[in-house]
Amino acid sequence: MKRNTLLRQWTGPLTADLTLHPGNFGLGKVPARFQPDATTTMVCGFCSTGCGLNIHLQDGRAVNLTPATDHPVNLGMACPKGWEALTPLAAADRATTPWLRSPGGELAPTDWDTAMQTFTLRFRAILDQHGPDSVAWIGTGQICTEELAFLGAFAKFGMGLRHGDGNTRQCMATSVAAYKESFGFDAPPFTYRDFEESDVIVLIGSNLCIAHPIMWQRVLRNRNRPEIIVVDPRKTETAMAATQHYAIRPKSDLTFLYGLAHLLIERGWIDRTFIEAHTAGFEEFRRHVAPFGITAVARACGLSPEELERCVETIHRGHRVSFWWTMGVNQSHEGTRTAQAVINLALMTGNIGRPGTGANSVTGQCNAMGSRLFSNTTNLLGGHDFRRADHRAKVAGILGLDPGRIPTENSWAYDQIMDAIDAGKIKGLWVIGTNPAHSWISQSAGRKILGKLDFLVVQDMYPTTETARMAHLILPAAAWGEKDGTFINSERRIGLIKKVLPAPGEALSDFNIIKLAAHYWGCGSLFQKWTSPEAVFGILQELSRGMPCDITGIAGYRMLDLEGGVQWPLPAGEKLEAGERRLFADGAFYHADGRARFVFDAPRATPEPADATHPFLLLTGRGTSAQWHTGTRTGKSAVLRRLHPAGLHAEINPEDADRLGIKSGQTITITSRRGELQARAFVTANVTPGQLFLPMHDEATNRLTFPAFDPQSRQPAYKACAVSVRPGK
Ligand code: SF4
Repeated sequence: MKRNTLLRQWTGPLTADLTLHPGNFGLGKVPARFQPDATTTMVCGFCSTGCGLNIHLQDGRAVNLTPATDHPVNLGMACPKGWEALTPLAAADRATTPWLRSPGGELAPTDWDTAMQTFTLRFRAILDQHGPDSVAWIGTGQICTEELAFLGAFAKFGMGLRHGDGNTRQCMATSVAAYKESFGFDAPPFTYRDFEESDVIVLIGSNLCIAHPIMWQRVLRNRNRPEIIVVDPRKTETAMAATQHYAIRPKSDLTFLYGLAHLLIERGWIDRTFIEAHTAGFEEFRRHVAPFGITAVARACGLSPEELERCVETIHRGHRVSFWWTMGVNQSHEGTRTAQAVINLALMTGNIGRPGTGANSVTGQCNAMGSRLFSNTTNLLGGHDFRRADHRAKVAGILGLDPGRIPTENSWAYDQIMDAIDAGKIKGLWVIGTNPAHSWISQSAGRKILGKLDFLVVQDMYPTTETARMAHLILPAAAWGEKDGTFINSERRIGLIKKVLPAPGEALSDFNIIKLAAHYWGCGSLFQKWTSPEAVFGILQELSRGMPCDITGIAGYRMLDLEGGVQWPLPAGEKLEAGERRLFADGAFYHADGRARFVFDAPRATPEPADATHPFLLLTGRGTSAQWHTGTRTGKSAVLRRLHPAGLHAEINPEDADRLGIKSGQTITITSRRGELQARAFVTANVTPGQLFLPMHDEATNRLTFPAFDPQSRQPAYKACAVSVRPGK
C-alpha cells in the first residue's frame, strides 16, 4: 500500500511528532558519556548467569572486551559466548531499515514512517473488526526489563490487547508456577555463593558445565570437596564430572523424587522443627509419598535400590545441601509438580535459607527474570495480579492510568496463543526478539499456524531468522551493546547494559521502537513519563514498592554500576550489605501465613512413549557452550562455529548402533510422527540404549518434538518424544 493511502485510511489521532531524527530516537549515535579511550563494565547479553564484561573503548566506541575480574558474578571468567559477544553486532545481515512485504509477496526495505503507519493501520483494522483478542504479542527474555515493561504496558494499556506471552514460557514458566504455589511468590532463593558453600550439590536435569559454564566454575571453587549428585538420563559433561550420577529413565524424575522423599521420611531423616515452624501440608505429603517404596521406585526409574539408598544417605549426611534444576525439569509434561518435588525435599530437610542450601531454579536467558517480573504478560507489572482490584488500582495510580484500561484476567499462554491463531481467533501477531518458526515445539505445525496470520510483525536484529522471513513487516532492532537498560540474572541480580556502539543504519532500540509505536498509535501521552530506560527503571521501582521484589532502595543506574548489580529485594531504607544475599533466612515465606506449601500430585505417563514403530526416546538439550538457542547470534561468529561440531549430530548408544549397522560419522535419518531429519551419528555410551540425543540449536530438531504441555505452567515438554532411526537418508 502507498503511504498516502495509509494516511487516508488512518482515522485515529496522529501526534505531531512524527519526524524521526537522531536526537529523538537515538539513530546512529553513541552518547558522549564515556572517556574516548577507556573501559566500562556491563552485563553479558546471552545467558542468565549475568557475567560482568569490561568493554574496551576507542574513540568512545567498543573495540574489544574482557571478563571483569572484580564482578561479583564471574570473578574474571567468561564462556566462549561472552568473549564473542560483540561479534554478532557486526554481522553483514543486520537489519538496517524496516522491511515491508509488497502485495506481490516480496519483502523490500522501507522507511520508518511507512513501517509505523502500516503497523498501526493493519493492527487497528484487525482489532476493529475482530475485537481485543485478535492481536497478540510474543516477547522475549533477551531485551531489557525497561523495554519489556514498556512493551507490555503499551500493548495492554495503549493498544488494548489482552494476550501476550514471552519465549520465557519455553524455558522458565515451570519454575514460576512452582515457586508461586510453594513460596507464595516467584522467588528463586539462592545466591551464586551457595555453589561454593554446599557440601552436597544436587543437580536435576541440569547440564551446568555446558549450559551455565561460569556457574559450574563457581562449583569448582567450592572448598568443601562437595558430593555432586547429577540426576539426568544422559551422561552429560556435568554427570561425567559429578561424584554420583543417577541415569534415571526419561521423565521418571517425579517418581524418583517422591521415592527419595519417602525414604527420608521412613528413616526419620527430616527436619521436624523446620517443617512445623515454617511449612504447611507436610502430613498430606507424607501420606502421598508413602506408596513410593524403594523397590517400585527403583524399577520405575531404571536404577537399583542400592543407588536410591546411596543418594538418600548422601543428602542426609550433608549439612548444607543445595538442590538445583534447569530445563530437564522445566520442559516436562509434569514440570511444575517435579520442580515442587525438588522444593519439597529442601523444605523437609531444612535445607533452605542457610548458606549452601536452597531449592534453586537456574534460569535460561539473560533477562528471563526481568520478563518474569515486569513483562506484563501473565502477571501485572512487578509481580501484581491482574485479577485483584487492589493491585490494578495500585498500578493504575502509579502509572496515572484509568484502572479500566488494565485487563482483569491473565493473558493466554504461548501455546494458547498459537492455538488461537490456528483457530482463526488471533489474526495479528507482533514477535519481538524471538524465533518461533525455529524454536516452537512441533515446528511444522507451528510454521503452518504462523502462516495463517493476516499480519505478522517481527522486531529483530536480523531480517534473516526463520520467523522474520515469514513476516509482513520487519522492524530493525538494536542489539545488546547498542542500548541502555537492565537485566535480572538467575540470582535476582539487576545489572546494567550500556550503549557502547551505534546501531547500524536506521535500527532502533526496542525501547525507541515501542515509543515510536505508541506515538503512531496515538497514545504517546499515556507514556509521557517513560522518557528513557532509566526513567522507566524509576517507575518499575515504584511499582515494586511493598512487593517481595521491592527495589525502591536502589539509587538508580549509578548504584547498579558501582555495585556490579544489586540482588532484589532492596527496599528503601535497607542498607546493601556487602556480599551476596539469599532469601528465607528468617523462614518466612510469602504466603499470608508465612508458611511454604508442600505441593504434589500423582505422576503421569509420558505423553508419547516409545512403541513398536517409534522405539527410541529422543532427548534434546544444549549442545555446547559455544551455541545459544536458535543460533541467530552465535552462528555469526567464526570462532564459536569452530567450537561446536559442524552440522547436526545425534548421539546413539553403541548397542543400538551395532544392531542397526550405524557407524560414527554416518548419516542417519530420525523420524517422529511429525517429521524427519538427517544427522551424523555420534556413537557414544553417554546415552542409554533406546535413547537418542539431539542438540536443540539446529533448525531441524523441532521438526520431531511432540507438543505436550505442563498443565500448571503451560511450558512445552521438549525433552522426550518417540522416534525411529535408520542408517542413511
Ligand atoms: Fe555470558 Fe552466560 Fe557465558 Fe557468562 S556464562 S559469559 S553470562 S553466556
